[in-house]
Amino acid sequence: MAVQVPGPIDELLADVWRSVAEIDDGEVATYIPELAKADPATFGMGLATLDGQVYVAGELVPFTIQSVSKPFVYALALADRGHADVLAKVGTEPTGDPFNSISIDEATGRASNPMVNAGAIVTSSLVRGGSRADQLERIVGGLSAFAGRDLGIDQDVFASERATGDRNRAIAWFMRSAGLLEDDVDEQVDLYFRQCSVVVTARDLAVMAATLANGGVNPVTREQVVPRDVVASVLTVMTTCGMYDYAGEWLYRVGLPAKSGVSGGVAAALPGQLGLGVHSPLLDARGNSVRGVVAAERISRTLGLHLLLPSERTRPGIRRSYRDDAVRSRRGRTRAQTQVLDAEGSAIAVVELTGDQGFASTELLVRLVLEDPTPTRWRIVDLRRVTRVDTAAQALLDGLLAQLVAGGVAVALVEPRAETARAAVRTLAAGVERFTDADAALEWAETELLGRRGFLDELPEGLVPLAQQDLLHDLSVGVVTEIEARTTTHVFPAGTVVFEEGAVADGLYFVGAGQVSADVRTRTGARRRLSTIAAGSAFGELAIVDGKPRSTRISALEPTICHVLSPQAYADLQAEAPVACAELTLAIARSLSQRLRYSTADVAAFEET
Ligand code: GLN
Repeated sequence: MAVQVPGPIDELLADVWRSVAEIDDGEVATYIPELAKADPATFGMGLATLDGQVYVAGELVPFTIQSVSKPFVYALALADRGHADVLAKVGTEPTGDPFNSISIDEATGRASNPMVNAGAIVTSSLVRGGSRADQLERIVGGLSAFAGRDLGIDQDVFASERATGDRNRAIAWFMRSAGLLEDDVDEQVDLYFRQCSVVVTARDLAVMAATLANGGVNPVTREQVVPRDVVASVLTVMTTCGMYDYAGEWLYRVGLPAKSGVSGGVAAALPGQLGLGVHSPLLDARGNSVRGVVAAERISRTLGLHLLLPSERTRPGIRRSYRDDAVRSRRGRTRAQTQVLDAEGSAIAVVELTGDQGFASTELLVRLVLEDPTPTRWRIVDLRRVTRVDTAAQALLDGLLAQLVAGGVAVALVEPRAETARAAVRTLAAGVERFTDADAALEWAETELLGRRGFLDELPEGLVPLAQQDLLHDLSVGVVTEIEARTTTHVFPAGTVVFEEGAVADGLYFVGAGQVSADVRTRTGARRRLSTIAAGSAFGELAIVDGKPRSTRISALEPTICHVLSPQAYADLQAEAPVACAELTLAIARSLSQRLRYSTADVAAFEET
């Protein structure tokens, strides 16, 4: 085991332990003679997180689980038999009666709930198994899986309870008379006594509770112990019936689904967060561990764990939102196309979400989109950084996308990288375009917009002469002629590399025909496209400015023809036609500052939300 450095959680548990250990009210249970031998001073606690970290304080002495077994065996019965079969015999209604009352719910003819002995004995009999021995194996095996280690039975406690267990036998006979138990009553009561005699520690209870909090998956072993869909049912009966006649006040003060037992154990779970286990054998008049109740209350209060605490207003899961007039795709565009996108790109809106999406965050998104005053023809919902899409978020997103599509908005979805979120999103609204990154989605919307405005056909046919290159557009004929005299023409077949990242800079390239792609290698080794550069645009201008090795790889997407001005030619231009050279240099500076402005807008968009 790794050496643990004690941190704030250890401190917190130790503080609670110290303050609660001073309390020595209460009595050790004696009605099962063997339990009377428990050391009243014993007091241990455990707290398990859902990623399998377990913190402990005090003494982790073994003790018999007793009634704390009830919710876990209930989970096993639900898993083995399904809800309908179990609910036919055991209800979910709290009773005001003691845990060992000999009664059924008269109105329904069922045992009231699985947390009182009557319901628990019936529940044990429902666990899978061809024989009592099989059922016992299932119960001990199931409890062990919850705890994440092999648990055994304390035979002395079992024998002691069996010898004095007439009241439970009476309960069982009564259950049988009501048609809720079938076979040999004695054997079924023994099965229940053995279940109660399984030996655990406070640490085990914490892990067991954390398994419920974690949707049935043991956070330490990662084993799916019971199906996710039984967990809410189990936690419900723990919440309403888990703490005997103290259930109401427990929920009021501590606010966690929990179960206590006569040997002084308490297991409490906060769904989605943690499991808590406490053991101290001194019991109050209702049969709950005195220190267990106080310790749970202090931990819950200090950490704000009450289930019904109003949750902090959920921050919208919106990372940023922007429009195409401010943030452009990396697809290279001609000057005329850029002007169209500058003027009309606001019709393309991107909203980028991040993290877990639930009701609150998605409701905010819906409002943000539907109440957006800027006319929007293309709506891109970027879910790439979304980690989870819950049922509510899925339904709301589906409705939003469908409404947008019906309203004539062209919708594109950037799918989440996280596999489970991607699966949740796959079922969403039909008629939606799907992309793996926002850049591709933006490029799609831009191309649609340019197509509608007739600016796609504007792509120059044939070779774009230097005079019509975006970079040289504003320069005089004389200047362009000086430059032209010093360029050479190069042809690159589709798919060839024009130059590699890191290569020696060999010039400024004007694309005369065709199209190239600029990409870089990311830290993971994948290639990431930065832009595509079409005829009429230039690349490699940094080389003229700083002469350093290439920062990107350029490859031809189509057969491509470039006019190239080499560093030597640039030096010649400087020497022989200094005015022309100055104008060219200024044009390069203007184009670089334009790009800098776009990337500033890109960064600024992060701050908007
Ligand atoms: N085995 C005990 C009984 O049935 C369990 C009771 C309890 O922990 N509340 O009496």
